[in-house]
Amino acid sequence: MEKAETLTPMMIQYHQIKEQHQDTVLFFRLGDFYEMFEEDAVEVSRLLNLTLTKRNGQPMCGIPYHAAKVYLKRLLEAGKKIAICEQTQLSQGNRQLAQREVVQVVTPATVVEDDFLQADRDSFILSIAFSKKSLSVSYADITSGQFFLRTVLLDDRFNHLASVLAQVGPREILVNEDDYFLHQDFQTLLDTYPAMVTKLPSWHFSRDKAYERLCKQIGTTSLKAFDLEQNDPILGSAGALLWYIQETAKTSLDQIQRYEVVGEETLLSIDEASRKSLELLTNLNDGTKAFSLFSAIDATLTSMGARTLKRWITNVLTDLSQIQFRQDWVTLLYEDRSELGRIRSHLKQVLDLQRLTSRIAMNRHLPKDLVGIAQTVQSFFQIIDQRYQTLLGQQLDQSVLALLVDLVQRIQRAINTECQGAFEEGKVILTGYDQVLDELRSHKAGGKQLLSAYLEKVREQTGITTLKLSSNKILGHYLEVSKAQAERVPATFYRKQTLVNAERFTSDELIACEQTILQSSFEAEKRERDVYEQLVSDTRSLQQVLLSISTFLSDLDCLQSLASTAITHGYSKPEFVEEDVMEIIGARHPVVEQHLPVGAFVANDLTIGSTGKRFCLITGPNMAGKSTFLRQTALIVLLAQMGSYVPAVKARLSLVDRLYCRVGASDNLARGESTFLVEMQEAAHILRTASRRSLVIIDELGRGTSTQDGMSIAYAVMQQLLDMGSKTLFATHYHELARIDTSSIQLLTLQVSENNGEVRFLRRVIEGIANSSYGLNVAKMAGISREVLKMARSFQKQHFAEYDLASQQPDLFSIADEPSQFDEQQIEVLSQIESFSIEQSSPLDALIFLKKLQETLKHLV
Ligand code: ADP
Repeated sequence: MEKAETLTPMMIQYHQIKEQHQDTVLFFRLGDFYEMFEEDAVEVSRLLNLTLTKRNGQPMCGIPYHAAKVYLKRLLEAGKKIAICEQTQLSQGNRQLAQREVVQVVTPATVVEDDFLQADRDSFILSIAFSKKSLSVSYADITSGQFFLRTVLLDDRFNHLASVLAQVGPREILVNEDDYFLHQDFQTLLDTYPAMVTKLPSWHFSRDKAYERLCKQIGTTSLKAFDLEQNDPILGSAGALLWYIQETAKTSLDQIQRYEVVGEETLLSIDEASRKSLELLTNLNDGTKAFSLFSAIDATLTSMGARTLKRWITNVLTDLSQIQFRQDWVTLLYEDRSELGRIRSHLKQVLDLQRLTSRIAMNRHLPKDLVGIAQTVQSFFQIIDQRYQTLLGQQLDQSVLALLVDLVQRIQRAINTECQGAFEEGKVILTGYDQVLDELRSHKAGGKQLLSAYLEKVREQTGITTLKLSSNKILGHYLEVSKAQAERVPATFYRKQTLVNAERFTSDELIACEQTILQSSFEAEKRERDVYEQLVSDTRSLQQVLLSISTFLSDLDCLQSLASTAITHGYSKPEFVEEDVMEIIGARHPVVEQHLPVGAFVANDLTIGSTGKRFCLITGPNMAGKSTFLRQTALIVLLAQMGSYVPAVKARLSLVDRLYCRVGASDNLARGESTFLVEMQEAAHILRTASRRSLVIIDELGRGTSTQDGMSIAYAVMQQLLDMGSKTLFATHYHELARIDTSSIQLLTLQVSENNGEVRFLRRVIEGIANSSYGLNVAKMAGISREVLKMARSFQKQHFAEYDLASQQPDLFSIADEPSQFDEQQIEVLSQIESFSIEQSSPLDALIFLKKLQETLKHLV
């Protein structure tokens, strides 16, 4: 209170507004600046490196309003939300305070301007609410109007939620603060997820309010059309989500006109770890899209298409009719190359219609957005013909088509394509579009002629030929005569100013002239704005059609991308069969093959029948190509189920319900989990949830602990997977696993050739068991020094003499380019063995010979 007494009215106003936006940085508009005060000022000056000043002893810093975007972007990147408070009514007279209001809260997922968005990434905000046995999850992208609702299984470790987060990739997450503080694992998951997390009071998550709110948004009284019932647990998160985006946008969100309930069973289930290890959108190494599946198959031409392709990769289908719907379109374009070329050339002209339309809906548009819409709709007209009707999904009736054509033509005639920034009087609407505007503009321009005609007239009437007509900001227009001539001016003139040598006058006629000019300028400006607003409102009234067109264009771009990739990289159409089989001939890894010289990739086959040996145990040394083989199988299944062609000569597949790909060992230190713990959690998850219809890929298991423990666990997991009957590829270093009863196991290995101690990996998958780990050979390839290798070899001999596989490694020291005495001795030993005549020797001779060999070998290392 004490403080309030010393505050100026403006600071009182500031505190009132700040009070309601405590979790944001408040940009407080003062003239041409956004000012920040007190704690905000201190924090922002530190984050943005701004100079901190003082106002009435309080810290303050500011940024010019026209440069706000740059600062907003940096603050968003620093994890801040920003409330933008504008002067909504200027002060009248000197003493009154300007009215101020927060007009928008800027958060990562509620911005729609291109500067804040990645063109090829959806900008989802996701909301989570707990119900008894499940989680209600909804997510929306206001830049495109998409709104999804899901029911996600609630498990102890929030595995299902983690998988949904990995799938959706939200930029911002909303949670009920009670849930957040109550569930430790939930909290940890969110805290380690790279998105802004906003905690809201629990009453925002009420289902009743949610139903009402969702209805109101789209102007209906029921949500039956979307299969949503009042009190449906799925609604818990949706109401809070809608409330939050309305509250931050503070404008119409008409682009959201439908809700999509996503059934978990309609999507191929892939857990978080598998998504990561398959490197679907980003690689594991540096998190960029290089070497990802997306970058390998992306041939989209529009940013809408690129976003859709990412969605298709992360939301793989399980419904055969939907898969085949896409596959048929890909086939159509794959087979008709000239049509594919035609589509591609038009798609190159297509802009981000989704985001442009959303900006119009939210009133955050620029004149160039209308031009973009017109250009895109025109390309749509060039693309569409009868055959694409089913892809468009709806028949555009003649009246709508006529409106669209008319709108495009009007925008093209009206808007000046050179106007790149915000609306600026005189720069937006072209001459020739609106007659009234043209007339007003000519009045405005005609003002000059009006004035010079008037000057001529006055000179003639008064005979003062030196009479001048000028203007300045203070006096406006005036007539000027020298002191000597001042007496000759008519009595109807009013004196405005007296200078040393001259007198300045005005007249009724001059005032009238001036007013005509001012009026026409004012009217021209108003008219221009009205014409522009009319075009905006006509566009807005067509926004649902525009959004349907953008979905059509995104889907088409994605389909042509799949067809183009299939052609460029020689993919073939997978065949789906009822029988639970997997038969892939000539399979390649879509990413690895693109980074090897043409033809260098070795294709492999894999067959898993509906009965019999559904478990494949793959042994083979490091670097032999095991991981590549495993992952390519997973990626082929994934591509096939997203409707794509696949990198194989032939693929006969049944639908897979769950895909697991647990590869290598990785720590999750951020979540406080060690390598081995993560490994075991992932294995447990697979064993709990996989079915016979699943594809399980395990690349090494039990490596994060002692050999005995690891091998035993790997063995037990393997046995259980065998019992479950899932299609499994299990790669292991524990070659001993291949010694158990293998009657129900396909034993596969990667072919290796040895020549003169040199090992070559042929990358060919063959039946059999690896006869060596070749670990030391790989170490040698990697550049481990000869001395170290020698020591390793000697240690191996001393300590693992009975460990049969280890002792079979070819000698590393017999390298052709590094001659040493070992070569000769070795060769000597080998030739002795070769020439030893078994038929003519007694058992005792053999033993003596063996002892001699042993003696020789002892000296070798
Ligand atoms: P592993 O899992 O057995 O250690 P990887 O699958 O990681 O081996 O393969 C090692 C390297 O071998 C890959 O990076 C790739 O360059 C190459 N490679 C793997 N498979 C093939 C193949 N089928 N054809 C050609 N090169 C391959």
